[in-house]
Amino acid sequence: MKNSEIADVLDGIADVLEFEGDNVFKINAYRKVARRIREIPEDIEQLYQSGQLSKIPGIGKNIAEHIEEYLKTGSISKYRELLSRVPSTFVEMMKIPNLGPKTLKLLYEHFKIQTIEDLKNVLEKPEAINLPGMGEKKIQNIKNGIQLYLTKRTHQRISLGIALPVVDEIVKYMKQVCKDISPCGSLRRMKETIGDIDILCTADNKDKVVKRFISYPGVQSIIAEGETKSSIIVKDHMLQIDLRVVEPESYGAALQYFTGSKEHNIKLRTIAKEKGLKISEYGVFKGEDRIAGKSEEEIYKIFGMPLIPPELREDRGEIEAAIAGKLPHIIKYDDVKGDFHIHTNYSDGISTIEEIVKKAIEMGYQFIGLCDHSQTSKFAGGLNVERLRERNKEIDRIARKYPQIKIFKAAEVDILGNGEMDYPDEILAELDFVIGSIHQGFKKNVTERMIKAMENRYVDIIGHPTGRLISSREGYEVDIDKVIEYAAKTGTALEINAYYDRLDLNDVNAMKAKEKNVMIAIGTDAHNIKMMEYMTLGVAVARRAWLEKSRLLNCYDWKKMPVKRNK
Ligand SMILES: [Zn+2]
Ligand SMILES: [Zn+2]
Repeated sequence: MKNSEIADVLDGIADVLEFEGDNVFKINAYRKVARRIREIPEDIEQLYQSGQLSKIPGIGKNIAEHIEEYLKTGSISKYRELLSRVPSTFVEMMKIPNLGPKTLKLLYEHFKIQTIEDLKNVLEKPEAINLPGMGEKKIQNIKNGIQLYLTKRTHQRISLGIALPVVDEIVKYMKQVCKDISPCGSLRRMKETIGDIDILCTADNKDKVVKRFISYPGVQSIIAEGETKSSIIVKDHMLQIDLRVVEPESYGAALQYFTGSKEHNIKLRTIAKEKGLKISEYGVFKGEDRIAGKSEEEIYKIFGMPLIPPELREDRGEIEAAIAGKLPHIIKYDDVKGDFHIHTNYSDGISTIEEIVKKAIEMGYQFIGLCDHSQTSKFAGGLNVERLRERNKEIDRIARKYPQIKIFKAAEVDILGNGEMDYPDEILAELDFVIGSIHQGFKKNVTERMIKAMENRYVDIIGHPTGRLISSREGYEVDIDKVIEYAAKTGTALEINAYYDRLDLNDVNAMKAKEKNVMIAIGTDAHNIKMMEYMTLGVAVARRAWLEKSRLLNCYDWKKMPVKRNK
């Protein structure tokens, strides 16, 4: 049922209208309908299909149309438009109890707050108490609300890029007392956001495992401490980590079971049933006999399949492909020979060219693409032509010092409002490759502008093609299917931007691109050398999209790099 989803969006519309000081009757109409939709027992989708939306008290033509749009497309364009007019953290702030849109507006106008951190700071200021309608009690209420919200948020889904390093650290720490150890769940499947974090292990001495786990240096609090399962909360992002200790003979079965996905496992269970077998977290059983369970390989083999990589276990056809012997040879994490999208301190990056080159060599790369912003992106220190040429000279100088790596002189060039590029063609021609990106006008003819950019022979890659930010932004109004179609037509590559809050293209869109034979370039969009390590996340997206090496520019020898201009 989509009732609560739709009610949330209608409330969201009311929030923005209230923030903007719109008509009270209009605002109340949205809120009333939202409440009704939450309360009615009927499925709103069924009401719509049987033409009975008007049964909902208070629903007018306008709101009915919004609901129809949501059911058909999964979003409401009016809401997207409204959101573009308020601070980007608005939606998040509206989740804070005791802080309504009116109060937020008051604080926003007086203190220009943008983030929850800003809000916390402002509430400590005496000027805040003296604002009309505020007072000490109200301030305290909002502070409590923030506390409540932050605690709740820690139990919600978190970005893979945030959780991964935390879990890696714990696994490394626990290895000392464990025989086998691995994270499972959506983290092991490398989903872009994850819920609970589960780690699975085997050990000779279970007691020792639990003791070591609860005395982890980063622990904030211990939730449970038991022979088979313990839970802690770590200080790092207040993540909850569960550790299970299992018997070696069922380690593979438990790993398979707890890795999921649910849909994948349901299908596997059905196949087991058909063969007269039973599969559980303890093993595969024929009657009372355990016939597999030690390793995942063993389990999949029973069902006539090779081991399916965790990233594919989403019931998107992987089981059928495995049975038919047609699983793709997806890209491996160490297949990557270089990174296409790194900003230097010539634009808004922090690291120098030399620092980046050293880091790339350390990562075993054969090439890197240095992409600074172009002139129109003034907020990001975009380079005018003179500065661009200066930077290129500097690259030549550094390149002589490090002959073991190819440094591409590239740029992330803005696609302007009319679809033209932010440098003239003769400048683009001086570069080794060009990423064309949209940084402004997210709702203005985005598809058409991207197509025009792709028709330019010097635009080799389209950067972050949907513009979404996982935590806070829906992205451009763009017809991604059309972009993919033109990418194929013009031989332009599409980016998988590996920054953890972008992961754009995502797995589903990257898979669509694959089906149309579009080349993919993974770029970290690093603004410092640490961020170059997000490459892992980009490869994870590619793996989840079933991409093989041949489709990824990152896996090619730089001398034979099949970017568009070389064709
Ligand atoms: Zn960009
Ligand atoms: Zn960038």
